[in-house]
Order: sequence, then C-alpha cells, then structure tokens
Amino acid sequence: MHILALLVFPFLSTASVLQRPRDHEHPHNVEKRLPSTWYHHPDHPVHSLFRRGDTDGVTYAPVGSDEWAAGYPPDPPASPDVKTMPAAWLAALNDAIARKAIPEIPLTTAPSEDDNPVYPKGVDPNSPEICSSTYQCRIDGQVWDAPDSTLGLSFDDGPEAGSNKLIEFLKTNGQKVTHFMIGSNIRNNPDAFTQEFDLGNDIAVHTWTHPHMTTRSNEEVVAELGWTMQIIHNSTGGRVPKFWRPPYGDSDTRVTAIAKEVFGLTTVIWNQDTSDWSLSDSPPGTTAAKINSSMTQWLTGPKSPGLIILEHELSEQAVATFMSAYPVMQKNNWNVMSLAQLIGHNASYQNSDNNDSPVNAVDVINAKSGSPPQRLTPERLTPERVLYSRRFSY
Ligand SMILES: [Zn+2]
Repeated sequence: MHILALLVFPFLSTASVLQRPRDHEHPHNVEKRLPSTWYHHPDHPVHSLFRRGDTDGVTYAPVGSDEWAAGYPPDPPASPDVKTMPAAWLAALNDAIARKAIPEIPLTTAPSEDDNPVYPKGVDPNSPEICSSTYQCRIDGQVWDAPDSTLGLSFDDGPEAGSNKLIEFLKTNGQKVTHFMIGSNIRNNPDAFTQEFDLGNDIAVHTWTHPHMTTRSNEEVVAELGWTMQIIHNSTGGRVPKFWRPPYGDSDTRVTAIAKEVFGLTTVIWNQDTSDWSLSDSPPGTTAAKINSSMTQWLTGPKSPGLIILEHELSEQAVATFMSAYPVMQKNNWNVMSLAQLIGHNASYQNSDNNDSPVNAVDVINAKSGSPPQRLTPERLTPERVLYSRRFSY
C-alpha cells in the first residue's frame, strides 16, 4: 500500500499541473472531506429565493416573450452585477457565512480560458481545506461517478449551435438527457430551450456567463448560480434545479458549499471527458475519430463505476460524436438514462420529479400568512424535502 502510494502520488501532482482544464480524466482521484460538516439550514427553503411577486406560482411570462426576457443581467462577458441581485440571495449567503458553512479560502486567478486557475503561492489545491476539482480532488457530496452499469447522459453549454441536431436525435430515439444550461444562452435561444424542456429532458445549471467559478467572489458565485436558477425556474413552471456543473469542472470547498448552502444545488463533475467542445475550435483540438475511439474504449470496458461522460451541445460536430456512440451504448447493455434522473433517484428537481409531475412548492409566504402550504408527495420525499417539510409538520 505504501509502495503504491509512493508510485501514484508523484505522478498525480505532475499530471494535475500539466492538464488543460477541459481535458480532465479522473482515474486517480483523492477522496477528501469538507473541513466543516454540511448542514442545510431548516429555515432555508430554496424555492423562496426565486419568488417574483404575483407571477410566481400562478402564471409565468411565456418563454421568449419580451416580458420574460426582461429583468435578467446583460449578456456576457460581463458577469452579473452583484449589486443588482435580489436581496434574498445575499441574505441567504450571509446567513450561510454566519453559520460558518462557507469555507474562507483564497480565490484563484486564471489568466485565460485555457489556463487552469491557480491559488496563491503556498496554497495546496489538493488539501482538504481547498479540494479543487480542477486538480482532481473530490469533495463528499459531489457527484463524479454513476452507479455501476449505468450511464448518465448530459450535455453542457446549451442551448447552442448543436441543440437542434441533438433535439432531432433525442426525439427519434425517445431518449431523455440532462442539459447543463448557461443562463444567458437560455435567454438568447428560447426556442431551443422550450423544445428541449418540452421533450421531457431535465434542465440543470451551468452558470450565467461560464466563468472559472473559483476565480469569483462569494457574491459573484451566488449571482452566477442564482440568475441561472431564476431563469430556469421562471421558464419551467416553477421548477427549482437540483444539480449544477461548474464550467471547466472548476470548483472547490468554497464554491461547492455556496451552491449547496445557498441554493441546495449538488455539484456534478464527470469521470470521462470527450473533449468534444474543441471540435469547433480553429484549429480543432481533437477529431471525431479520436472521440469515437475513446468512447468505444469506455463503453466496452468495465461497468464499475458507471459512466458520466462530459459532452457538449456546442456544435453539430460534437453532437454527431454522441450519435455515433449511442448504438455502442445500447449494444454493450449500459442502462442509459438522463443524468439528473439517475443521480437524483428519479427526481430531477428540488421540488418536482420531472417535467410532467407536479411542482411541490413549499410555500413559506403562504405558510406564514396562515394559508395551508402545498403538500409534498409522500412517496417522493428526498432528504432535502423532508428537511423543508419538517418545519411545517406535514
Ligand atoms: Zn461548459
């Protein structure tokens, strides 16, 4: 065991430094615990953070309408202005900080999109205090692997140029997937968003402007997640996403804690990376042939753990590599599912099972004013919902 450790760890540290941020493979991950214990505040129903006056819970502005598009931050590259975010989000952050639920660790700097973010000199990204996913360190509660024999399908960065091709393929094959969406892309591509949601696919969070999140302040992390949750909530009949994926897979104890403590979001990474995002770069960073070869290797290999493969709907070329691999997934008897359904135990949202099931909003405002809050469906009580419902003695 000691000999093995000696052999593995020097390799690990070298490999981590050399890897490009989107080229991650994670064969040698180190399990780390968060320095502080998770606890979800019982007075903190996430749904209450997204209430928007009369429109919430009753009717929502039609997706794509001017009314719908209004009220969100300007287009990237500017990150959402933290001064304009709802006071309730900031209050939830300050509450989490007061509970000492958010680790106080340094921010990173990332000179460019292609550079790994770095911590100040002397800070070890693999230490339990930091545990950066960019450097392959895993935090308890994050999702990196799928259960044995299962393959959780997900696509990042949409709605984007590859979305229509993906939609057609999913429709033809009756396959559902999870879309980790960029909030500003939803606002700019409402038709593709609507089609993907209406097909029964699960919608999850991939931030508003796609930054390296460890470079962002606590308030900026809240704004990036909050606005994306808000537009998903307002465009799906009030559903609150359960999962988010950090852009470039970049998170640490601080970012992971903000996502969980402020918004109830579980951080999802991956265990295999196609690098399909780079197919549409000039020059391309990989080829369809290379991706096919990697896919074949993973899909014909061991089924433990199950697969979470990083794929994108950024381009038609990227979607085409998924289409080629799909029959191989079937042929090799993988249980292929939408990732959110798979890891969410058949509930893709914090307050709803899927796109057809009822939205179980725990209505704090009504509860406080004496009106009976909406009941949760007993057979679908997740731990979070049990916590929320306990307050109201359902
Ligand atoms: Zn991305």
